[in-house]
Amino acid sequence: MQKIYQPEIESASREELVALQNERLRIQVQRVYENVPYYREKMDALGVRPEDIKSIEDLHKLPFSYKKDLRDTYPYGLFAVPLKDVVRLHASSGTTGKQIVVGYTRKDMELWNDCFARALIAAGATDEDIVHISYGYGLFTGGLGADGGAMRIGATAVPVSTGNTRRQLTVMQDFGSTVLCCTPSYALHIAEVMEESGLSKDDLKLKAGIFGAEPWTNEMRLQIEQKLGIKAYDIYGLTEVLGPGVAFDCSEQDGMHINEDHFIVEVIDPDTGKVLPEGAQGELVFTCITKEAFPILRYRTRDIGTITRGKCACGRTLVKMTKPRGRTDDMLIIRGVNVFPSQIETVLIEKGYSANYQIVVDRENNFDSIEVQVEISREVFSDTVRGLAVRAKELSAAMKELLGINAKVTLLEPNSIPRSEGKAVRVIDKRNLFE
Ligand code: ADP
Ligand code: ZN
Repeated sequence: MQKIYQPEIESASREELVALQNERLRIQVQRVYENVPYYREKMDALGVRPEDIKSIEDLHKLPFSYKKDLRDTYPYGLFAVPLKDVVRLHASSGTTGKQIVVGYTRKDMELWNDCFARALIAAGATDEDIVHISYGYGLFTGGLGADGGAMRIGATAVPVSTGNTRRQLTVMQDFGSTVLCCTPSYALHIAEVMEESGLSKDDLKLKAGIFGAEPWTNEMRLQIEQKLGIKAYDIYGLTEVLGPGVAFDCSEQDGMHINEDHFIVEVIDPDTGKVLPEGAQGELVFTCITKEAFPILRYRTRDIGTITRGKCACGRTLVKMTKPRGRTDDMLIIRGVNVFPSQIETVLIEKGYSANYQIVVDRENNFDSIEVQVEISREVFSDTVRGLAVRAKELSAAMKELLGINAKVTLLEPNSIPRSEGKAVRVIDKRNLFE
């Protein structure tokens, strides 16, 4: 079994964890009711009193929170402590609408650092590691989240932030970076620039990477592992709940352990709001039971996933969530067929293509069309026009067979799709332009 950062929590018995959650939930609901008028009004409207919430069994009685609630109370309306107790603010612009702001007390910062530290230790990091952080530093939670975790385990943090990939590689080589933290799409881009610069993975000392902030498939993980010669671990989080570190991959790399001593997870039917049984796929909902400044209750993430309890070979008992396959609002509905970009990614990689792809959705004469653009290697690109047409057709047939969609496939030469240093843009929906 591998080393665990806080075994008393991470491998506690179910009874111990539930008892901890019950107690923390009771205290949290009372605090929030007393300190945040917005929640108080919502609870009063439903006729729920804080004392009605005695244990996690009662969680479903509480109202949900939505991104809209953060916007309506912008900037500080959901804070549960006076601003003088807040030591850090972070914000997320999201893809649409006004940005949202969250705050952390000193204690919140400590628990956040602990959560990221658990992920680092689970990825095999120690105080001897050099942690190269290419998540953006700033209001985005990625950079400083990873930074706090690295500091907590006593590793050496290299706060490179995003941008200038060639320089990143020089820093990695010269400083001897051993653990890389960034988005998975940026990790792949780093690998690409590494190859273009005539470097090989053996020129770097990297052994592991902690990648998150966007959906990525297991197929993409294998590609990153092979290109960079590392183990690639997933990390999940969102600004509204914590930032990176809500859940993290362990040595088994098949599902992320949720930090249940701080966050209670529920999986619900996104249409009806009903809590689903364990193992069912649905929308992930989180309740923060320890955070002081921004203790969001029953937050609707719009991320689609599944949770499973069961023994994990790593020794942790924390519940596991699958890789979220995307947000409900990323789901494409193409002539009635629901499909997530991550499903298209799986097909692409299984068929031997790269994870450099983009999906263009359009509407002509009230008819939705979908085009999958994917880059191919230079050798393949030099194939005859006929050869390329055959390949595109084969890929299109695979999309039809595996996903049920009629997608047009366009094979592009290397480097035609813009690279992202943060979250990759996977979908261009032209339908919105005409609405
Ligand atoms: P924004 O809302 O601006 O995108 P966040 O950084 O708060 O800013 O984004 C959080 C979201 O990113 C999550 O709700 C989820 O959709 C996605 N995400 C984060 N980590 C992962 C991950 N490991 N796998 C899949 N999606 C992830
Ligand atoms: Zn595990």
